[in-house]
Amino acid sequence: MLEIDGSEGEGGGQIVRTALALSMCTGQPFRIRNIRAKRPRPGLLRQHLTAVLAAAEVSGARVEGAAPGSQTLTFEPGLPHAGDYRFAIGTAGSCTLVLQTVLPALLQVSQPSILTVNGGTHNPHAPPVDFLQQALLPLLKNMGAPIELVLKRHGFYPSGGGELVASIEPCAKLQGLELEARGQRIDSYAEAYIAALPFHIAERELDTVGKLMNWSAEKLHVRGLANDRGPGNVLMLTLHYQNITEVFTGFGERGVTAENVARQVCREVLDYLASGAAVGNYLADQLILPLALAGQGSFTTTAPSRHLLTNIAVIQRFLPIAKLAILKEDAHCYRVVVDWPSP
Ligand code: AMP
Repeated sequence: MLEIDGSEGEGGGQIVRTALALSMCTGQPFRIRNIRAKRPRPGLLRQHLTAVLAAAEVSGARVEGAAPGSQTLTFEPGLPHAGDYRFAIGTAGSCTLVLQTVLPALLQVSQPSILTVNGGTHNPHAPPVDFLQQALLPLLKNMGAPIELVLKRHGFYPSGGGELVASIEPCAKLQGLELEARGQRIDSYAEAYIAALPFHIAERELDTVGKLMNWSAEKLHVRGLANDRGPGNVLMLTLHYQNITEVFTGFGERGVTAENVARQVCREVLDYLASGAAVGNYLADQLILPLALAGQGSFTTTAPSRHLLTNIAVIQRFLPIAKLAILKEDAHCYRVVVDWPSP
């Protein structure tokens, strides 16, 4: 049984999710202690608990410690199987992170699956549905795994109530991916979603984006949502290139001006642009897992985040022969390389 220390590195929920995903894919049981030890509310929150229960259902696992607040978990997977799965987080916890937990295992089975998840679809500290649709899933498609993801209803913190539906086709073996450069810019735009909050919040965010990015009005879109979806506000900047699309996100918050929400997102975009790297900070830590399962590939990225370094450490526990290296290209651009003879 693999022993994982959930307090290492980033010390957050990703260690649990990556361990679950790889346990299902490799058949190796694990025990994790100190779950989310570096978070203000340690232990399993509803989102992580739903990911554990989803992983258990998909792989027929034997589980100990799957309870709210639990800081220790034992997970012994059986064989993953396809199905029509429905998981409700019960809070505004992130639906996309639950999807990411079971996705690698559902790619490995021989039949298609459908996965419906209820909860938050646009959460701080998690990839919004649009990020998966635009940034991550097209890369997985290039790796041989076509996944259709539909956003049925937006769900914001704290009320939740959002829904996504993923249709997952089996992919016997993920192919590697070489992602050196972004390629030519095809399009770029900003969208400010707003539900049950004054429209001027979205307008001021977009106004600030227009000035800082030097984008004209036709690139700036207010997207009004039904009042029962709110209150909620998310600002997303999408950069669409030949080889990659990146999505940068900020959330309206009490006590933070609309202008400051936009400034923060623009700063992230400008850092990404200045780096010359293909893959942004968040996408890097999410792409490394499928790439490790593929066994071969490389991408350029911005300075490695603690999420990326921690994820690599967890991957190497489950796939000890995997060679994962981060090479420095220059002060702002790094290269992540995966190379091992995967089965
Ligand atoms: P954790 O904090 O351990 O629960 O992990 C959070 C996950 O959400 C990581 O995989 C991050 O890359 C991802 N994430 C956080 N914020 C964003 C964002 N704005 N856009 C895309 N992914 C994000």
